[in-house]
Amino acid sequence: MKNTRSILISGAGIAGPALAYWLHRHGFAATVVERSAFLRDSGGAVDFRGEQVKLLKAMGIFDAVKAAETAMGDEVIIDGAGQPVLAFSSAFFSGEVEIERGDLARILYDATRDYTDYVFGDRIVGLEQGADGVRVTFAGGAVADYDLVVGADGLHSGVRRLAFGPEERFRKDLGWAIAGFTAPNDLGLDHEGRIYNVPGCGVMASSGRDRDRIGVGLVFHAPGLEYDRRDTAAQKELVAATFAGAGWETPRLLEHLAKADDLYFDTLSQIHMDSWSTGRVVLLGDAAWCAGPGGSGTGMAMMGAHVLAGELAAAGADHTAAFAAYERILRPAAKTGQRQGKGAGGFLAPLDAKKIAKRDKIYKMLSGKLAGGFFNWLTARAANAVEYKEYPTLVVAEEGVAAKGTAAEGMRVAA
Ligand SMILES: Cc1cc2nc3c(=O)[nH]c(=O)nc-3n(C[C@H](O)[C@H](O)[C@H](O)COP(=O)(O)OP(=O)(O)OC[C@H]3O[C@@H](n4cnc5c(N)ncnc54)[C@H](O)[C@@H]3O)c2cc1C
Repeated sequence: MKNTRSILISGAGIAGPALAYWLHRHGFAATVVERSAFLRDSGGAVDFRGEQVKLLKAMGIFDAVKAAETAMGDEVIIDGAGQPVLAFSSAFFSGEVEIERGDLARILYDATRDYTDYVFGDRIVGLEQGADGVRVTFAGGAVADYDLVVGADGLHSGVRRLAFGPEERFRKDLGWAIAGFTAPNDLGLDHEGRIYNVPGCGVMASSGRDRDRIGVGLVFHAPGLEYDRRDTAAQKELVAATFAGAGWETPRLLEHLAKADDLYFDTLSQIHMDSWSTGRVVLLGDAAWCAGPGGSGTGMAMMGAHVLAGELAAAGADHTAAFAAYERILRPAAKTGQRQGKGAGGFLAPLDAKKIAKRDKIYKMLSGKLAGGFFNWLTARAANAVEYKEYPTLVVAEEGVAAKGTAAEGMRVAA
């Protein structure tokens, strides 16, 4: 059997570095190529629940995550006068532990940078599969051979396009779009969030770890939206035009949007594929099963990384068996996440006044004491859909697969 040791990962977001971590623990060597020239350490808050918390602990990063947690309190739906209509406890929006995506990206990068070859400012432009490996051509001109290639490059994955076909074939737009950015906290929020709606638009603002800043999310109904992903100025104009005339503090937030240098803009979209691998190329995270906000995408990407690396080790580096097992384990969870994420647009930005009132009524009922347990179960379904399990570590000698052992032995071999 060929010793599957050199693995190229496209994307240094969440899934990519998490996979680099687990591959290292199992004795594989990983290179991560990231299109951006720098680590993209921005984005809204992401949370972990149930099995995913066990995963953070197993990775030894729980304390770092906890130290940077948002410690978010209630998220309150307000009316145009800023008066509360309904409050969600932190368990609903923020899970057991919540952290800003950028802080998590930084923690994962820092945890893996010593033993992972990170290449920023480059991307894969050619993939040629042979019996023994994959020949990869990079935009920068380099050509190199790898045993396996993993596309962990997000919703608009380049690896998916090269290995499986155009994005349009797999992307299902849910009909809403989101603009996320940070702004000065001149709303005076203190570990709390506000959600304000006008028909088809949701304005979210919450303070996190840094009390001087707030995270702002502007969600709006945008069926069939076409936009230039690289044109930030046009994205800002579109959002400003859509939210013009919305009340509460929206005008002030739009002023901050105009100056924001960390805008994240995208449609709420999902990725649906019949298979996540072809030969020696496999997809992970949003690239494979993007669910959109509310679909537990971050925790699932990290759990997927653990399972993918673990199955490779368990299968003695037989990638065909490992990819099949990985997909068998993750697919039901990904489906659950997609079911959960499907309703995010309609929940955050209901289409008309009647739908806004209906949402508020339903959630008032659900957040009552009696329904609390059901409510918690509902929000943790995707997070608990894959149980965390420990994999035996593959101990790889220089020539071929030698034995299976413990994680500590695996790390010694890899070091
Ligand atoms: C900057 C940023 C901000 C985000 N903010 C939010 C948010 O506010 N709310 C939300 O719901 N989700 C957000 N997301 C998406 C969220 O991070 C993912 O849904 C989830 O964490 C799964 O992570 P992932 O690693 O699969 O994908 P991502 O976190 O999207 O990471 C993918 C990585 O691949 C890189 N990449 C893309 N194309 C290529 C290529 N061709 N070659 C090499 N690298 C490439 C990207 O630059 C990125 O670093 C954000 C993503 C990014 C990149």
